[in-house]
Amino acid sequence: MVNSVTFPDGACQPALGMGTWALGDAAGRREQEIASLRLGLDLGLRVIDTAEMYGAGRSERLVGEAIAGRRDEVFLVTKILPSNASRAGVAEHCRASLRRLGTDRVDLYLLHWRGGVPLEETVEAFERLRRDGLIGAWGVSNFDVGDLDDLARAGAAGSCAANQILYSLDYRGVEFDLLEADRRRSIVTMAYSPLGQGGDLLRQPVLERIAGRHETSLGPATPAQVALAWVLRQPGVLAIPKAGGVAHMRENAAAAELVLTAEDLEAIDRSIPPPRRKVPLAMI
Ligand code: NDP
Repeated sequence: MVNSVTFPDGACQPALGMGTWALGDAAGRREQEIASLRLGLDLGLRVIDTAEMYGAGRSERLVGEAIAGRRDEVFLVTKILPSNASRAGVAEHCRASLRRLGTDRVDLYLLHWRGGVPLEETVEAFERLRRDGLIGAWGVSNFDVGDLDDLARAGAAGSCAANQILYSLDYRGVEFDLLEADRRRSIVTMAYSPLGQGGDLLRQPVLERIAGRHETSLGPATPAQVALAWVLRQPGVLAIPKAGGVAHMRENAAAAELVLTAEDLEAIDRSIPPPRRKVPLAMI
């Protein structure tokens, strides 16, 4: 069974969610992408992450179609572009996201990255959305430790629910300070691109060796499952891999069954060492 994470308002969600970047971009893949998200819900996943930026709204529309009739099963997350995060822009763009998603409320609304609009203004606008019931909670994305300090100074201490950041075996830098900085503030860390975007990470020999030592209910474990189990070992971290079809979704959901041993974790640290000093937060 997958771990869970607890948001500051007490909402508890499975620590394995679903990413949706690039979903909806190709008409020929639409049916399998919708089937993938629906299978994720069938398998007990709840968190779906999208953004107004993804395919200029195409991802949100696809998510809306996938969750039609199942809204209550979903913890729905979307993001606003920093250039839109002004007082007037937040209200307008949130409503546009809601229309595309086919719902009247998102559970978590994130500032996609830090931009030119003063944080105070965005925070105030997010708080208004919360009071009006359009969002359940708000958070940020791609915020490093210094940005979190600025956010606290902007009057947001205690009200930011999540920080969505790049965290995978390819990018361990955040282990030096940012994961702890989020935890100290009771902010849930959402780990994006946890599979290294399906690239070279999944061909790392160490992941293949560890996969060879484990089984899930689907059969022999895979490097992708090891990469996910490695992210999920961290308390308070929610991973949002993207799976464009049911085979990957099924495989990723089964990663929650894997428990890496101390020996596995040491082998990983030898091949891909943890950071020894501050590494500025990377962003994709
Ligand atoms: P991921 O690390 O989730 O990798 C996705 C890639 O891995 C896809 O090519 C997918 O292929 C492939 N894949 C999925 N499952 C498996 C598997 N079991 N075995 C082998 N390959 C697999 O990358 P993303 O960049 O998509 O990150 C996840 C999500 O995080 C995004 O979709 C988005 O929601 C969010 N995100 C947020 C950002 C931000 O700035 N806040 C930035 C980047 C991402 P296929 O599609 O064929 O299944």
